[in-house]
Amino acid sequence: MEGESQTQIPHVLIFPLPFQGHINPMLKLAELLLLAGINVTFLNTPHSHRQLTLHSDVLLRFSRFPAFRFRTITDGLPPDHPRTFDFFPDIIASFETVTKPILRDFLISGHFGSDLTCAILDGLFKFLVDADDAEIKIPIFGFRLLSACSVWTYFCVHDLIQDGQLPIRGEEDMDRVLTNVPGMENVLRCRDLPSACRVTDTNDSILQFNIKQTQRSSEFHSVIFNSFEDLEGPILEKIRTLCPNLYAIGPLHALLKAELPNGTECLNNLWDVDRSCLKWLDNQPPGSVIYVSFGSITVMGEEKFMEFWHGLVDSGRNFLWVIRPDLVRGKNGDVEIPAELEEGTRKRGYTVGWAPQEEVLGHEAVGGFLTHSGWNSTLESVVAGKPMICWSYISDQQVNSRFVSNVWKLGLDMKDVCDRGTVAKMVNELMVDRKEEFMRSAAAMANLAKRSARPGGSSYADFHRLVQDITTLSQLKRHH
Ligand code: UDP
Repeated sequence: MEGESQTQIPHVLIFPLPFQGHINPMLKLAELLLLAGINVTFLNTPHSHRQLTLHSDVLLRFSRFPAFRFRTITDGLPPDHPRTFDFFPDIIASFETVTKPILRDFLISGHFGSDLTCAILDGLFKFLVDADDAEIKIPIFGFRLLSACSVWTYFCVHDLIQDGQLPIRGEEDMDRVLTNVPGMENVLRCRDLPSACRVTDTNDSILQFNIKQTQRSSEFHSVIFNSFEDLEGPILEKIRTLCPNLYAIGPLHALLKAELPNGTECLNNLWDVDRSCLKWLDNQPPGSVIYVSFGSITVMGEEKFMEFWHGLVDSGRNFLWVIRPDLVRGKNGDVEIPAELEEGTRKRGYTVGWAPQEEVLGHEAVGGFLTHSGWNSTLESVVAGKPMICWSYISDQQVNSRFVSNVWKLGLDMKDVCDRGTVAKMVNELMVDRKEEFMRSAAAMANLAKRSARPGGSSYADFHRLVQDITTLSQLKRHH
């Protein structure tokens, strides 16, 4: 199988964290590399691979690349483990104790082929490979799937602790403005820091994990960001001072769309997609619908869920809401709906368990997006030119939502509040009162995003530089 001519083609191993928001963009990167003539092996845990192949067309879509392979590696968890984000520490611990030595063995033994040029690991997987492990001979790239602004914030948290700015001193301290985060002076309040910072003890294991993994980013051979210069240029510049070998190749979905002959959306879903919502959207007036989705891992209590629902109905606007079966904690899709909400929803709303989000955001009936500010959702909204109302849940989302509202001026930040009055008010502010203003800034940013992904654009150039650098690595390997 590995004839002389094939060994000349670079071969990349890609390994994401087993979550929707990580697998999807890394599959997009895989597809882009394959289209650029690079061979790819994509590593999944058996659990996420099963979900992915059950609910998406990946096997068919990737079958047109004969050299592409899916491989699996255990996450070390028992079969009945829920594997939800609530168990993140468990999942990471198991990767460290069980998966890490297996992966090391695979990389040393040539398990993925002797032609393997490099590996692109999820940026949070730095702990899977020790920097000083001389037996691993291939370069390890890290793909940070968060915004550059949140990664830079993580870089600065250590200094904030040293300065005595952290820990946050209770609820009344949450609106304190941080004056000395380099490059973001006076932008962030304490409540806009990544959610891991909301602890009273700065030795907290999750906070320390995030700080350490971010600091160790500089140990990667190179770091890749799903972002673009016109959006995050100044922050990317800050990160380059610590990780000089950096590629900003986002929005990846726009880059891939531009490369695909028919420009279609690639669905890399871990849930069944309900396309009926597109038909419903077809029957709504242009710009009239607020699309509501909290991504793949957000969960909330029934009380918050009901506040959102009342707020959406009370707003008097049309809404399309993704209610994942596991969105409401402990309810498993089983929520009792008051009669007035049923009535309001029948008149103006539509709900699905999982939507074809990129298509939904691109639909002309959608005029705004109530989002949890996950980085993929944020970029998808940016490309679609849709303003956002941000209700951030965890991790980088607190930083993203602040940047959406206060730096990029693409919407409103509802952070930490979701009473029905606020929801209804913000929906109307976005969709009616300040519609023109937000649509203008969203359209301008969408143009910049799409321009970055086309020939001549910064992300297009960085992606092709990445391809060239991987090709050079493969040639060097052959000569050794
Ligand atoms: N998504 C989707 N359909 C839905 C909800 C979400 O396809 O009904 C996709 C969305 O397009 C995005 C991903 O799921 O690509 C969510 O990633 P994000 O980073 O926004 O949030 P996370 O799920 O990681 O919290």
